[in-house]
Amino acid sequence: KTGWIEVVCGSMFSGKTEELIRRLNRAKIAKQKVEIFKPAIDIRYHHEDIVSHNSSSIRSTPIQSSHEILLLSGDCDVVGIDEAQFFDEGIVEIANSLAFNGKRVIIAGLDMDFQGNPFGPMPALMAIAEYITKVHAVCMVCGDVANYSYRKAAGKEQVMLGETDSYEARCRKCFHL
Ligand code: ADP
Ligand code: MG
Repeated sequence: KTGWIEVVCGSMFSGKTEELIRRLNRAKIAKQKVEIFKPAIDIRYHHEDIVSHNSSSIRSTPIQSSHEILLLSGDCDVVGIDEAQFFDEGIVEIANSLAFNGKRVIIAGLDMDFQGNPFGPMPALMAIAEYITKVHAVCMVCGDVANYSYRKAAGKEQVMLGETDSYEARCRKCFHL
């Protein structure tokens, strides 16, 4: 039996983590064995839990490098990964081999950085996925459908952890204001 890869992507505050938690909880209800990983650099809310902006949460394992996913996912049925944009490119082959070995792999991550450029391994993960779901936030300027993460704070580095203090969801027009 083969597995498959699902990607949940979108801007900040679009509900990626909410959707990931929803899918993983439903797998748990079906008595499937679930393992959940997030990059160790993302400890904004909690060291071990994955927490969404509406405060739903699920226990996860923080890891430094994508190869730890292979070592730690053992005999589980479903592998969940949040904030996948922060991982190294090695995550692409790891997702492939997990799926090849019969696992359902659900990956959530930012498809674009604050400049509107593709973020880390996300484009490659979307290319190999069987299923892609793009979720959307609400533009904080005009209320339209938001596709972009606008950085309010100063700083030009691609990775700058922050929340509503540093970022807001914006539609295409308001992103370029
Ligand atoms: P993501 O993982 O994509 O950043 P989360 O699942 O953590 O998103 O959070 C989604 C929640 O964020 C929404 O249910 C809502 O409560 C909150 N939220 C805050 N700002 C916005 C916004 N501009 N548009 C939509 N939801 C927002
Ligand atoms: Mg999230």
